[in-house]
Amino acid sequence: MLITTAPFDRIGEENAFAVLARATALAGQGRSILNLGIGQPDFRTPDHIVEAAVKALRDGQHGYTPSVGILPLREAVAADLNRRYGVEVDPDLVMIMPGGKVTMYAAIRLFGEPGAEILYPDPGFPIYRSMIEHTGATPVPVPIREENGFAFSAEETLALITPKTRLLIINSPANPTGGVTPAAEIDKLVKGLAAHPHVALMSDEIYDRFLFDGEEHRTLLAYPQIRDRLILLNGWSKTYAMTGWRLGYSIWPKDLYDKVRKLAVNCWSCVNAATQYAGIAALEGPQDAVDAMTAEFDARRRIVVDGLNALPGVRCATPKGAFYAFPNVSGTGWSEAKKLASALLEEAGVAVIGGPDFGVYGEGYLRLSYATSRENIAAALARMGDFLAANR
Ligand code: PLP
Repeated sequence: MLITTAPFDRIGEENAFAVLARATALAGQGRSILNLGIGQPDFRTPDHIVEAAVKALRDGQHGYTPSVGILPLREAVAADLNRRYGVEVDPDLVMIMPGGKVTMYAAIRLFGEPGAEILYPDPGFPIYRSMIEHTGATPVPVPIREENGFAFSAEETLALITPKTRLLIINSPANPTGGVTPAAEIDKLVKGLAAHPHVALMSDEIYDRFLFDGEEHRTLLAYPQIRDRLILLNGWSKTYAMTGWRLGYSIWPKDLYDKVRKLAVNCWSCVNAATQYAGIAALEGPQDAVDAMTAEFDARRRIVVDGLNALPGVRCATPKGAFYAFPNVSGTGWSEAKKLASALLEEAGVAVIGGPDFGVYGEGYLRLSYATSRENIAAALARMGDFLAANR
C-alpha cells in the first residue's frame, strides 16, 4: 500500500468504550452484566435543562452560532466561575466546545509537534497520551502515586520539565483515581512554574463539582501569574449528567484564543444552538440536582470503598473526588490487571477497567465507576468477591 496514515496510526483508544461495547454485547446474549466501566452519571439531565433545549428548538434556533459560542452562554460561564470561585473571567476568552475532549485536542494540537515534550498524569485520562502521540510530540508521564493520595507532587512534576517541555496537563479531581491535589501542592506547582515560562498549562477541572469529605476545589484560574499560559477545561457532561449532549467549555489566554477559534471554524463550526441554550439553563437554574447527585455519589463511594477493602487481596484508598475508585489489586494473585478486568467481565459479568488502560503506572489497579445504582454496586462487589475467592 502506498498511502500512509502515520499520525492516525498513532491515535490510541479510550478502552472504557470498548469495554462498554463488550458489556452491551454480552448483555445482548442474555448475560447479566453489572457495568462499573463507563464514566458517565447514571442520572437523567434535569428537566429544566431539557426544556430549555426544546424551547430553543421551538423558537427557531436552528442555525449556526458564532464558532466560539453564543455570548449569553459565555457570560453565564464567566458568572458561574465568579460565583463559585471568586475569579474574574472575560467572556471573550471563553470558548464553547463540543465536549471536554475537544479542548484537550485543541490544546495538545496547539503545542504538540515532533521534538516537543508534553507532561501528562499517569495513571490519567487515556486521551491525553493518545492525542500527544497523534501530534508526534513526546509523551512524558507524571507519576500519580497511591502513597501520595493520588495527588500530583509539585516537586516530581517540576523535576520532569526540560527546555523541550511545551505543555503540562494536570487533572484534579482526577480520573481514574478520584485523587484530589491539595491547594498547597497546587500553590507549590504554580510557584515552581515561574522558573519555566516556556511551559503552558492545561488544567482539566471537569470533575470540580464532585468533591467529598469537605474537600474544596482549587482552580488554576485563581493564579493571575499564569493566566497568560493557562488553558482551563471544564464542561457540562459530568456536572449536569449531559455526556451525550456534547457540551464543554474552555478558557484561553488572549494570545491563543483566536488560534483556537480558527480551529473551530475549520472543524466543527459551532456547538448546536439548542444545546447551548440548555447550557445556560444548567448554569443559571437550580443546582439542587447537582447537589443530590453529589450526595448520592458520596454514599455509593463509601459502599464501594468498604466493599473493596473487604475483598481478598484488594486495598482501596478512599477517593476524595469524581466518581471512581481505583483499588490496588496486586495482592489478588493476578499480576496483570487487564487480564483480571477481562476475566471479571467474561466470567463474573462485572465490567471494570484495568489500570494499565490509564498508563504504565496503572498496573496493579482496577478502575470502578460508581456511577451506577447501590444495588448494582453491592451485587458487583459480591460477584467480585466470589470470583476472587475462586481464582487466586
Ligand atoms: N476529562 C476527563 C478527566 C474525563 O474523565 C472526561 C470524560 O470521561 C473528559 C475530560 C471528557 O469529557 P467530555 O465527555 O465532555 O468530552
